[in-house]
Amino acid sequence: MPLEVLERAASDMTNWHDADGKPSGMGVMEMSHRGKAFGSIVQHAEAGLRSLLAVPEAFHILFMQGGGLGQNAIVPMNLCGPDSGKPAVDFVLTGSWSQKSWLEAAKYSQSHIAASTQESGFHHIPEPASWQLSPGARYVHICSNETIHGVEFHTLPDLRALGSDAPLVVDFSSHVASRPVDWSRVGLAFAGAQKNLGPAGLTLVVVRDDLLGAALDICPSAFNFKNIADNASLFNTPPTYGIYIAGLVFDWLERQGGIAAIEARNRGKAALLYQAIDASDLYSNPVEPACRSRMNIPFFLREPALESAFLQGAEQAGLLQLKGHKSVGGLRASIYNAMPLEGVQALVAFMRSFERTRA
Ligand SMILES: *Cc1c(COP(=O)(O)O)cnc(C)c1O
Repeated sequence: MPLEVLERAASDMTNWHDADGKPSGMGVMEMSHRGKAFGSIVQHAEAGLRSLLAVPEAFHILFMQGGGLGQNAIVPMNLCGPDSGKPAVDFVLTGSWSQKSWLEAAKYSQSHIAASTQESGFHHIPEPASWQLSPGARYVHICSNETIHGVEFHTLPDLRALGSDAPLVVDFSSHVASRPVDWSRVGLAFAGAQKNLGPAGLTLVVVRDDLLGAALDICPSAFNFKNIADNASLFNTPPTYGIYIAGLVFDWLERQGGIAAIEARNRGKAALLYQAIDASDLYSNPVEPACRSRMNIPFFLREPALESAFLQGAEQAGLLQLKGHKSVGGLRASIYNAMPLEGVQALVAFMRSFERTRA
């Protein structure tokens, strides 16, 4: 989280101030979600995201609950109706997250693997021209940044160029707002807020209008995108505090120079860390350079036995949460938007000094 955002939230904690500095007499958590003050907060957050990511008018921005994993069920429940019978849905498996989405969607669709890199260890993005797309698929799902394996789509696939009319569904949970989005290639994108936008509990969905209204009967009303869109994210009580914080994060991103400036900064941070890994004999990253994530950078020590010493030394140097995900092991640096360049520089300096002491 950007420190400025946390400080602003702290100063508003017991008495939220509007854009003109006028106090409301209550904190955001104390507001009715139907009141005027919160209405302005949700509108501000939506307008902030629309402007930051240049979301076209043809898309609705929904703030809801359920998390990224919830969307693995909510998306097929919304796109695979209205008739019963399981339509085909295509999945491109590039790591743990797309795999989870594929498994969950099988409850609601005939979920089909159009391509998978599992056999080679999830170290690259399969060439779109090689994908086996199903005729008439309701949608094609990708995870545009695989948080655990550190694999990123640096450009979104153009399904029309592959001869498909299916909308592209993108799980962009772990790199949302880190770079621009080519909305002409997207039907729906979703993200849990907790990686790059704000507190856990808020889920962002950006969905093209023409995809609304195709929900299965079993879809809960509170997770029906059309209900949420028709009620401007106030069908039921949304995660109000998360929406407020996300709005402050969007303001902060604009102050940094907007999405192009953030992307440039993220490229610089990632390049610094990958260069340090590639130049060393001790550390390695297995992902093909053209598909390496700029947000989540897994790396491995030549001798795994050194991991605990590395983590201990890092913690002493104030470098926290570097343990890799338990499913792949090793180490991982998640360098989200709010991580300053200085943070990555400090990590690289520590890595070099650790390597020297082990040489
Ligand atoms: C973290 C993450 C999720 C998270 O899901 P939650 O249900 O919000 O915990 C989903 N997809 C990706 C790519 C993630 O990185």
